[in-house]
Amino acid sequence: MKFGIIGLGYVGLATLCGLAKAGHEVIGVEKDQPRLLRLMNGDVPFHEPGMADVLRDHHGSITFTDSIADTETADYLVLAVGTPSKQDGSCDLTFVDAALSEVNSKHKIIIRSTVLPGTTDMLSVMYPAHTFAVVPEFLQEGRALADVLKPHRVVIGSDNLEMCEELAGIYGRLGVPIVCTSPIDAEFIKYASNAFLATKISFINDLARLADKAGADITTIADGMGLDPRIGRSFLNAGLGYGGSCFPKDMHALLNVASENELDLPVIRAAMHANDAQMAYVASKVEPTSDLKVAFLGLAFKPGTDDMRDAPSLTLAQLLTVRGVDVIGYDPLAKWDFPQAETVEAALEGADVAILVTEWDELVALPPEAFDGMRTKRLIDARNAWKYARDPGTVQYEGVGRMQNK
Ligand code: NAD
Repeated sequence: MKFGIIGLGYVGLATLCGLAKAGHEVIGVEKDQPRLLRLMNGDVPFHEPGMADVLRDHHGSITFTDSIADTETADYLVLAVGTPSKQDGSCDLTFVDAALSEVNSKHKIIIRSTVLPGTTDMLSVMYPAHTFAVVPEFLQEGRALADVLKPHRVVIGSDNLEMCEELAGIYGRLGVPIVCTSPIDAEFIKYASNAFLATKISFINDLARLADKAGADITTIADGMGLDPRIGRSFLNAGLGYGGSCFPKDMHALLNVASENELDLPVIRAAMHANDAQMAYVASKVEPTSDLKVAFLGLAFKPGTDDMRDAPSLTLAQLLTVRGVDVIGYDPLAKWDFPQAETVEAALEGADVAILVTEWDELVALPPEAFDGMRTKRLIDARNAWKYARDPGTVQYEGVGRMQNK
């Protein structure tokens, strides 16, 4: 089959690679010229393991272009453009709309972008020539290709039975559960999943603040809770809170659509509030004194990616710099606009506090001696991930909600 993929960010490029690996012909459309040029040279414009190999090994079946018109002969068009937050928190469909208005011939369209419940039905009315299905993407950055090749499930939302069956046949080869449902339920499943994971993080962070006061260890508590299969251990890591290009925007959009329906979602609202409170809480562990320098170990919103969209490091840096604190960051891949060091040693040199912000392998494995260049050897482990937490040597160690009683 022949697929046109519109928008080659994390989702679009991972989808393109997955389809090329499955033996399909793919045409990737990207409007951003620097990104397009890099792709045409076989260069992946962001850090995602495995994608460069697919572009090299399957270059005969992959074409890149900046023109949607070049996808005219495709059997399917996959829409993977961004759906960012508007100022009021609602979901911005500008890129979706702009892309669809360029599709001239009649097409079968798969919406991969995250769109609010009801959007695909609305698009079917706005663009009646096309047939639509929404197949939400659940990948995690840093392992995007692996997740596309082996997702936990595939959700197909379409009112067109033929398209549902065809897509179930294509995705069926992955050997994972397939949920065929209405477009609105498929869209809802995506938001509900993200909102649940974000809420799980906020839940454990709330208890981490209490554990700090009470002298309990939140990692032990989470381990004990997580053994219950009804709860599960994942997304129960207390720390700095969630960030990234999806959770914050999807939570805002959900709240916004609820308010349009004259509803409040108190749990979602509280989870968002708790997330803001958590970043402020971690920031409050740094008492600003004159000439204080704080080294951020890790900047990306999670390890394994160079994506800085809505990274908690940015919020934390803003909270500290407005209080007169100097910050410097180090990250193996990600870049920011605050001062940045090329090495961990350079970031730590002369610092008064180090904050472990992103749990990159190389950062969680730093031995206590790595902190010798600091003016005061104090480490705030905002991810509760430092390997030497129980044997910190001369480092003054402080996690989030842990070991205050040890
Ligand atoms: P992204 O911003 O990295 O990529 C979107 C790309 O689309 C950009 O390169 C942009 O230049 C391009 N684009 C925009 N309009 C275009 C057009 N008309 N023609 C061609 N290209 C166009 O976004 P992303 O992170 O890949 O996310 C895409 C969607 O998938 C969003 O709705 C997001 O919420 C959702 N999603 C993202 C993730 C994730 O982890 N990043 C996971 C699941 C779902």
